[in-house]
Amino acid sequence: MPYTAELIAVGTELLLGEIANTDAQVISRGLSGLGINVFYHTVVGDNPARLRQAVDIARSRADIIITTGGLGPTCDDLTKTVLAAAFGKELVYNEEAARRLEDYFARSGRPLTENNYQQAYLPQGCTPFQNNWGTALGCGFACDGVRVVMLPGPPSECAPMFRQCALPYLADLADGVIYSRSLRIFGRGESAVEALLRDRMNAMENPTLAPYAKEGEVELRLTARGDTEAAAQALIAPEEAALRAMLGDLVYGADEDSLEGVCLALLRERGLTLSAAESCTGGLVAQRITALPGASAVFKGGVVSYWSEVKAGVLGVPEDMLEEQGAVSAPVARAMARGVRALMGTDLAISVTGVAGPDRDERDNPVGLVYIGLAWDGGDYVREICNPGPRERIRRLAANHGFDLVRRKVLGLGLEL
Ligand code: ATP
Ligand code: MG
Repeated sequence: MPYTAELIAVGTELLLGEIANTDAQVISRGLSGLGINVFYHTVVGDNPARLRQAVDIARSRADIIITTGGLGPTCDDLTKTVLAAAFGKELVYNEEAARRLEDYFARSGRPLTENNYQQAYLPQGCTPFQNNWGTALGCGFACDGVRVVMLPGPPSECAPMFRQCALPYLADLADGVIYSRSLRIFGRGESAVEALLRDRMNAMENPTLAPYAKEGEVELRLTARGDTEAAAQALIAPEEAALRAMLGDLVYGADEDSLEGVCLALLRERGLTLSAAESCTGGLVAQRITALPGASAVFKGGVVSYWSEVKAGVLGVPEDMLEEQGAVSAPVARAMARGVRALMGTDLAISVTGVAGPDRDERDNPVGLVYIGLAWDGGDYVREICNPGPRERIRRLAANHGFDLVRRKVLGLGLEL
């Protein structure tokens, strides 16, 4: 039987909704990599009585308890005290921890105040986790058949300490590994993908297959349990091949791939350049591609042509076309793409013009109507989409379609979805 873990996040900020429990996400992922089942995530405020209650419940139903937060030097940092009391452990002064704190403060040029020494007290007999990313120490101890791990709250400290200290500390409880691989799909909704794969999905046990809807994309996650990572991967490989064969060019990447990342790699590989003319996305296409290292080899520049004057004056969109068709129209998208391509002298150019909302435009075009253009040497293409939704979503979706067009063009695929 695999071991089970419960995560207890300590922090009133979490309960107030001021921050999201991202530490839990990182830890849960890591534990599944060890084949440890996470059955509960608990969130509790900075309150000793309620934390104690949460710990008592957790120890009755989990083999491993991992807390996050409340390890710092201030009076609301009560995790260590409560956990030590719950398991009948004394907090003892740890010389080495104190020296490290002094070093840390000396290095960062900040004064070390008396309450900082609080952090040098740790439950008796524990394994201290040095904090190379901040001050609060973490630790792990075993008591009454339960493993307890305490990690600091700030994600920049919690995540590395979890990976470098807690995972090795828990490694002897590992039961094989759970390995996941995601295929990234653009151009079909979640329900369409699910309908296509339903029978297959229901018949699968190891690996399992699950679709997740992302913005305008679907992530198909294959998850396998095996004795080793290699064994789990070997279970996934043939399933991945079968899915790719079924879905064809709808699969644009895997795992951490992004549409813009895939575009950038393809353009670089072929020595092609790109530019963009953007109306309703206001530079989002340019922003997303330039956020990636290596973009300069590919992306020459862009024009944010929000007003018709700019579409006409800078990009050379004919004024009568703007008047007759309106700025949100296929011919204008086409002319924008051609215009920016000529202006920047690139191999390919993307254009975006649409209604991001919240209101219809002056021609009564519906919110979410967007034309995405692509121009290349000797041709062009315009894709029309109409997905109502919040402004930000419409803009991101439009940029996604721009990158999808580039990917399809460079790969010689059909541009139609
Ligand atoms: P510090 O030494 O910074 O006080 P701590 O271990 O006492 O660390 P907290 O005081 O509980 O941790 O939280 C510090 C900050 O870390 C919070 O303000 C919050 O921004 C972030 N944080 C805490 N818990 C979580 C969590 N579960 N997920 C994401 N962020 C968190
Ligand atoms: Mg704190």
